[in-house]
Amino acid sequence: MIKRVTNKAQPWFSYPDYTWKEKTATVIGAGIAGSQVAWHLAKRGWRVTVIERHTKPATEASGNLAGIISPKVTAKPSLGEDFYLQCYQYTLQQIEELQTSADSDNNSETLNWNPVGVLQLAYKERDIQRWKQLQQRSFSKSLLQCVDAETASLIANVEIPYPAVYFPQAGWINPASFCNTLLSHENITLETDTHALDIDYQDDHWRINSSPSHNLYQTEALIICSGKDLNFAPIDPNNPITTLPSEMIAGQTSLAIQQQDGQTSLNNHLKTVLDHEGYITPVINDQQQLLFGATYHRGSSDNRISAEADQQNFDKLKRHLPNLAKELSSIKSGHAAIRSVTPDRLPLLGAVADLSAYQRDYVDLHHGKHWKTYADASYYPNLFISAAYGSRGLTTAGLCANVLASIMNGDASPVGKKLLDALHPARFTIRQLKKNTINSTS
Ligand SMILES: Cc1cc2nc3c(=O)[nH]c(=O)nc-3n(C[C@H](O)[C@H](O)[C@H](O)COP(=O)(O)OP(=O)(O)OC[C@H]3O[C@@H](n4cnc5c(N)ncnc54)[C@H](O)[C@@H]3O)c2cc1C
Repeated sequence: MIKRVTNKAQPWFSYPDYTWKEKTATVIGAGIAGSQVAWHLAKRGWRVTVIERHTKPATEASGNLAGIISPKVTAKPSLGEDFYLQCYQYTLQQIEELQTSADSDNNSETLNWNPVGVLQLAYKERDIQRWKQLQQRSFSKSLLQCVDAETASLIANVEIPYPAVYFPQAGWINPASFCNTLLSHENITLETDTHALDIDYQDDHWRINSSPSHNLYQTEALIICSGKDLNFAPIDPNNPITTLPSEMIAGQTSLAIQQQDGQTSLNNHLKTVLDHEGYITPVINDQQQLLFGATYHRGSSDNRISAEADQQNFDKLKRHLPNLAKELSSIKSGHAAIRSVTPDRLPLLGAVADLSAYQRDYVDLHHGKHWKTYADASYYPNLFISAAYGSRGLTTAGLCANVLASIMNGDASPVGKKLLDALHPARFTIRQLKKNTINSTS
C-alpha cells in the first residue's frame, strides 16, 4: 500500500513518479497554504475540492486583516535567503497574473494588494552589521536598497531613527482577498462548514469523513493544509503525521488611528510598511486604521483576543518608534491566531513519508556508510502536506504550492534539489537518524 521509490543517492528525499487516472484532489484547509495548493493544481487541469471547517476561507492564521509580503535577506548568501527571495519574487509575479486576469473578468474576486514598500529597520547592533554587509552586496535597486535614517524617514513620511533595508516592491495584502481570489478558479469547489474528521485509503482513493453533514469525500490525492492542526492518522492510528515537528506560536495584531494634534490627516500619515521587532502598516481601511503587531507567544495555543496583547504591541512599537507611537489613538484588537513553526523555520512540503519505515530502513545512517545502498523511500500513497508556514506564509506558500503541484503532476521542479530536500517533511527524522538521536527525542 505504501509507495516506494528508487534513487540510490539519497533515497530518503526522492519522490515517486506519480500516475493518475482522474487528477482529483482534496485539500483540507482554506487558509493561504490550501488556497495556493488548490489554485496551482487547478491551473494544471486538476479538479480540486477544498474542505474548510469554518464558514469562510482565511479564518485562522490567514485571517489577519493585513499581512506583509516581503523577503528575508541575510548578511551573506544562504539557503534561507535564497528560499525567501525566490518565494517573494514568485508571489509578486503571481499577484500580477491574478490582477491581470481579474481585469479581463469582471466577476473575479478583488485582490486587496498594496505595494507600498517595506522598510526593515536596523534597530539593533546585529541589524546594523547586516545592513552594512548588505550594502557591499550587489542587489538590483528594484529588489532592495540600504537607506540611511533620513532617507527612510522621507520614504515612510514619519520620523525613522534608524537606517533601513528598503524593499520598494513589497507591501501588504489582505489575506482573505488573496485566498478568495485563488479559490475562485473554475476547477475548484469550496466546501465550507465541513470539518474533516478522519481519513483512510481504499481502492486507490482517499476517503475523508466529515462533520456535521457526514459527507464522505473520495479523492485520488489528498493534501493536508490544515495549519496548526496536523492531527490525522492515515492508515495506521499509531503513526499519525503529527509526529512531524511543529510548534504553535500564538499571535495578535492591533489596530489604531494615527493623528497629529487630534487631527487625522492623510498627508502626514505613514506611507510604507515598517518592519521592526514587529510591523506597522499604513492605513488599511475606510476607518483610517493602521495595523500593527504582532505578539509572539511560543508554545501557546490560545487564540483569544486580549487587551494585554494590544498593550504588548503598543509597547513594542513605542520602544522602537516612540514618535509614531505617540500619534496612535483608538487602539483596538485586530485578529488573533496560531502560527505553526518547525525547528528550522522552513515549511513542511512534499509527500507524507511513512516515518516508521524510515526508522527501520535508515536506522544506521549515523554510521555514514556512503557506499551502502539503502532501501527506497516509503510514502503513504498520494498523500501530501503543505504546512508550518510560521510568520511568512503569505510570501512563501505560493512558490511552495507550485513546487508541490509540480511533484504531483510530474513537472520539472521550479526549485533546485537542495531546496526541495530542505523542505522535505521527513527531514527531521533523517537528521535524527544521522545523529543517532532518534530514540532519545521521539
Ligand atoms: C498575528 C499574525 C500575523 C501574521 N503576519 C504575517 C505577515 O505579515 N506576513 C506573512 O507572510 N505571514 C504572516 N503571518 C503568518 C501567516 O498568516 C501564516 O503563515 C499563514 O496564514 C499560514 O497559513 P495556513 O494555510 O498554513 O494556515 P491557516 O490559515 O491556519 O489555515 C488552515 C486552515 O485549515 C482549516 N482546518 C484545519 N483542520 C481542519 C479540518 N480537520 N477540517 C477542515 N478544515 C480544517 C482551518 O480552519 C484553517 O482555515 C501571521 C500570522 C499571525 C498569527
